[in-house]
Amino acid sequence: MRYLSTRGHPDRRRFCEILLEGLAPDGGLYLPERYPQVDAATLAKWRGLSYAELAFEILSLYIDDIPPADLKAICAKTYTAEVFGTVEIVPLRELEDGVYLEALSNGPTLAFKDMAMQLLGNLFEYELARRGEELNILGATSGDTGSAAEYAMRGKKGVRVFMTSPDGRMSPFQQAQMFSLQDANIHNIAIAGVFDDCQDIVKAVSNDLAFKRKYKIGTVNSINWARLLAQVVYYFAGYFQATGGNDKQVSFTVPSGNFGNVCAGHVARTMGLPIRTLVVATNENDVLDEFFRTGVYRVRSAADTHETSSPSMDISKASNFERFVFDLVGRDAAKARGLFEDELGREGRFDLSKDPVFAQAATRFGFASSRSTHADRLSTIRDTDKRFATLIDTHTADGLKVAREHLVPGVPMIVLETALPIKFAETIVEALGHEPERPARFEGIEALPKRVVKLPADAEAVKAYIAQHCD
Ligand SMILES: *Cc1c(COP(=O)(O)O)cnc(C)c1O
Repeated sequence: MRYLSTRGHPDRRRFCEILLEGLAPDGGLYLPERYPQVDAATLAKWRGLSYAELAFEILSLYIDDIPPADLKAICAKTYTAEVFGTVEIVPLRELEDGVYLEALSNGPTLAFKDMAMQLLGNLFEYELARRGEELNILGATSGDTGSAAEYAMRGKKGVRVFMTSPDGRMSPFQQAQMFSLQDANIHNIAIAGVFDDCQDIVKAVSNDLAFKRKYKIGTVNSINWARLLAQVVYYFAGYFQATGGNDKQVSFTVPSGNFGNVCAGHVARTMGLPIRTLVVATNENDVLDEFFRTGVYRVRSAADTHETSSPSMDISKASNFERFVFDLVGRDAAKARGLFEDELGREGRFDLSKDPVFAQAATRFGFASSRSTHADRLSTIRDTDKRFATLIDTHTADGLKVAREHLVPGVPMIVLETALPIKFAETIVEALGHEPERPARFEGIEALPKRVVKLPADAEAVKAYIAQHCD
């Protein structure tokens, strides 16, 4: 299996070559040259597998430069009941007739990013040891990504994490999750500024190529192909749990921001998993909903990006979207480049409404979408608590609200649960008047000693800190 760039760069790369990288050299995103196809007989064989075994089977179709026995061991070590709370890893429960919740949020940081990041941690450690190299991961977070990365990389050989976050702006629970880590290879950097300042610092440091090379700076952002690939697995696992036979179709509703999660659903569907519809659920930041309704993709300005109560979906542009558009335009790299480099760069938007391929987003690729608001989240959380005695988080509430607008009789609808309510306690209190339940292992974490350094919003200060802590 080789990987290409969505913008047409002539190089073809292998999995381990792109594992530690972000964008392709021409600014495109990596995708496999073709999607391996899975037929009914293969599905039947996979149906009885454990999650780790299923992950190995799917990953093997895309990774041919790690010996199978090693890849199998990495999957087995990653997807354990000990780390993810249950033997099923992603247990499915029926909420009401034909509507299911697939729990992706029982990992170490209680959000679905653990599903991919835990694998990434083990793949990074393996590959760095094989190369005899080290990597310093520099990131910016306002919550879920940073904590998932830290819990995945803590204690790993060859990896250090330098995670910037806006000082005082994460929820107390999220701060406590990150800052209570005492591992020597994890560095929390609280920046005197907002999230955009943190992102600007990461960009500035990464643009200093001499520094980047000398200190082996890397990232783990959502455009990483290995993260996306890891997420393909739980679409299959959800499908097997919701159906008793292979000819049956299901639909998924996916709370979406950067289009990473639902892009994995697109890959699963393209491989032949019988998915009828992939419903994209957005909050008030409805860049994606607008595209699937109108064919216009319009990046928002900072002023036009809303701070909502489902903050992990507060995006101004969807960084993985180019992958889907590349497939939508028939894998025409010149056309994808024209849209994302030329039109988007020049005008901040592109318009496929009059292009015949736009209709195929729904007809051929199975996409649909809707949006949800703060009031919708509150009423969905209340209703789900009252009627089903089930507490859901704000992102999952966006999903459930939207899912109900796309139900088809006889087709199970699986809503992906992307976080546990304790991470967004403030809104739960607003909806229900009481705090959500807290898993026992997080009792009292706010009182634990904190390991964090405060720095000004200045890339030079962050560089100096990294240099000091790299030996
Ligand atoms: C990251 C995140 C999302 C959005 O996922 P994308 O892959 O960016 O679409 C949704 N919900 C939660 C809780 C998240 O952490």
